[in-house]
Amino acid sequence: MIVMSGDVDQLLRQHGLQVTAQRLAIMQAVSSRPHATADELIDDVRAVIGSISRQAVYDTLGVMVDKNLIRRIQPARSAARYEDRVGDNHHHLICRGCGTMFDIDCAVGEAPCLTADDDHGFEIDEAEVIYWGRCPSCRKAAAADEGERAASTGPSGNSKRGRTAGPSKT
Ligand SMILES: [Zn+2]
Ligand SMILES: [Zn+2]
Ligand SMILES: [Zn+2]
Repeated sequence: MIVMSGDVDQLLRQHGLQVTAQRLAIMQAVSSRPHATADELIDDVRAVIGSISRQAVYDTLGVMVDKNLIRRIQPARSAARYEDRVGDNHHHLICRGCGTMFDIDCAVGEAPCLTADDDHGFEIDEAEVIYWGRCPSCRKAAAADEGERAASTGPSGNSKRGRTAGPSKT
């Protein structure tokens, strides 16, 4: 769903929410910065309406998620992100290195898009799908740092000794 700034008013009302300056600002912040964290959104919202408490922003985001106005994405070991693209079953591709996130259309379209081998009698309504990997710039940085996996893609032959043993640095 694409939200034009003029429609936000109506959208809030349609979802049974009173239109307030705070809600408008938060909704617009979510629309203009998909996949932002609450902390990022707070900065945007404060830039528009001045002071607002963190708690107020968190509470409002929670209400909007409950009302299905926005969607919360909760990747493992990282802060929740918010977006206004609701109503489809799209997935997310997240970089393990820098946290960059992309929308990925669901190949099936409807949840649950994965079939369980055994549903144990449940009516399964969701399969949580997140694609994890490393984005091009993180791969490039890692290759430059370590130069040890270059064989798969890069020109081979340069067999450096003394490979770094530790986990990937940040
Ligand atoms: Zn990355
Ligand atoms: Zn998304
Ligand atoms: Zn899917």
